[in-house]
Amino acid sequence: MIVDLRSVLHAPRHFNFTLEGDWWQGNGEDDQVLGLDGPVEATLSISKAGAEYVLEGRLSGTIRLRCDRCLEPYPRDLKCDFRLCQTSGPSESEPSEVELSEEDLAVDFVTEEQIDLDGIFREQIYLSLPMKSLCREDCLGLCPVCGADLNKVKCECQPEKGHPGFSKLRDLRFKGV
Ligand SMILES: [Zn+2]
Ligand SMILES: [Zn+2]
Repeated sequence: MIVDLRSVLHAPRHFNFTLEGDWWQGNGEDDQVLGLDGPVEATLSISKAGAEYVLEGRLSGTIRLRCDRCLEPYPRDLKCDFRLCQTSGPSESEPSEVELSEEDLAVDFVTEEQIDLDGIFREQIYLSLPMKSLCREDCLGLCPVCGADLNKVKCECQPEKGHPGFSKLRDLRFKGV
């Protein structure tokens, strides 16, 4: 959904959306986010503060991720609050005096006049992802020899279990895939 920023010049606007499962558009097969796991509630307020547009929003629901270790999909709670600022006016204008935190720089989806709300929400979902996506803390991952999902089966080739050095190697191995 595209919002015309000029519509908030005089008064803030508030939006409430329910993002349904088919809303999600991923980045292809390697995407860590597989989709929404049920509807996600999204709220957003857009206001003008001085020379800036301020976007404050919240996403809450459940998303479906792929586990880095066992590669299985799993649901993960999505709860994120965000605040973005966009300086109005041409982009070649003087840098804003306001110091922008890294979070504030996520303004790719805002142009001078318009905001792509779907793009904002999608980006916030990516930003909310954990460094390491695990279906559970103690996920056993895949056997590096035969590829069996060790959460479900015990294969014959399983080396001494619980060796800490080994589980590190395993993580590295599947991160690169
Ligand atoms: Zn897992
Ligand atoms: Zn095996």
